[in-house]
Amino acid sequence: MMKIKPDPKTCKTHKFDFCSYTGRGARERKIWSKALKQYIDAKPLTLGFRCRRCGERVERIATASERKFHAKYIDAWRKTGKKTIATVWRDFAKRFKSKDGDSYRLVGWDLMCAVEKWRTKWPNDVRQVRIDDSHFCSSDLILVEHKAPNEYMGTTVVVVPQCSGESPLEFFMYPFHLNGLLNALQAIKKAAKPVEKRELKHKQLVDRLIKKNLRHPPVKP
Ligand SMILES: [Zn+2]
Repeated sequence: MMKIKPDPKTCKTHKFDFCSYTGRGARERKIWSKALKQYIDAKPLTLGFRCRRCGERVERIATASERKFHAKYIDAWRKTGKKTIATVWRDFAKRFKSKDGDSYRLVGWDLMCAVEKWRTKWPNDVRQVRIDDSHFCSSDLILVEHKAPNEYMGTTVVVVPQCSGESPLEFFMYPFHLNGLLNALQAIKKAAKPVEKRELKHKQLVDRLIKKNLRHPPVKP
């Protein structure tokens, strides 16, 4: 049975669950933004909560003991070592994309070769899989993991066509997207098997018959 969510205005007894955090430290401060080349306001550690009954969200600044809890159980766990979930993708973008991140500096075969060289730096985070583009020319899927020692976000996939003249296209997969794609690929593979088997059997038959029937000079009737 579908539950009807109470209206946030009439939900008198909100039941808030912690759902997000942003910022850091006890109070607002100025930090230098490299990208914007100016000082910007940095939020103090701010916690977000969502009502499990009506979905209403609230945000508030963390208390001192909440900051301690956050540092011990969330921040320290995420920041094990220097690698964050963004490290490898940032390195990819720095190497192959324009400064604003909107376009690629290399395309097609040049990009495929350059990535092959670059990815030796990240053997556990980057995979390069061969596909064909719409012109049936060998092309690549580049799979870049967004993963830190203790944190997993997902995978960016870059489609690099070789001959169609199109720019590389990106899409992102969270783990549940991965499951959807895996299930689809497995179903395709399973359905293709009996067809491939029939095809092969027929080809073997035709090959045998060709040897017998199609000769030069011709076989006499
Ligand atoms: Zn509520």
